[in-house]
Amino acid sequence: MANIDIKHDDALIIVDVQNDFCRGGALAVLDGDSVLAPINALAPHFPVVVQTQDWHTPDHVSFASSHRRNAFEVITLPYGPQVLWPDHCVVGTGGADFHPALHVPNVQMIVRKGFHPSVDSYSAFVEADHATRTGLAGYLRERGVGRVFVAGLATDFCVAWTALDGRRAGFEVVVVEDACRSIDLDGSLARAWQDLDAAGVGRCQSDELLPGLPVPDGADRASSA
Ligand SMILES: [Zn+2]
Repeated sequence: MANIDIKHDDALIIVDVQNDFCRGGALAVLDGDSVLAPINALAPHFPVVVQTQDWHTPDHVSFASSHRRNAFEVITLPYGPQVLWPDHCVVGTGGADFHPALHVPNVQMIVRKGFHPSVDSYSAFVEADHATRTGLAGYLRERGVGRVFVAGLATDFCVAWTALDGRRAGFEVVVVEDACRSIDLDGSLARAWQDLDAAGVGRCQSDELLPGLPVPDGADRASSA
């Protein structure tokens, strides 16, 4: 384990740490609340900090209820396969709020995604149609960012897609493994790590960035993928 120096052109992207993805939420990620401690500890050390917020219309295309189907079924939409989720992160609801224990006073940019009713967006950079950009790449470039660290929920969906699109946009990307938790639907976590490795996305633990920070139990270590 090597220490990693946080540099002046590093950014931290905190993905979807919202009530609906945490304990008691509509789409709760197992042990999702465990990302709070490492993220709260890491964020103050980054010169650029971005949060993403899943932000859906009530009738969103990614909701099983919109298709009278069961949650976690997969359907084909014009832009490709779409996992159908329970209704979550609906605009203006408490479930869409950031977790109250997320404490990131130096967040500078909040990217809302998934607000087009007919397009989902796991990625903070490009929506699921692979065409509609959120503007985040331009924002990071204008801030002079070269390397982005990604943490949050969930490893195998919004974190992975954000990391992959960050690479495609030309950034060096590192996933902070113990500051993420996964959904792991039908092997999705292993597939995500294959894709991340193939794309050249790095991985680290939060204590490599902050020596002395305890790594919580149950983190999504590479060995479990
Ligand atoms: Zn969503």
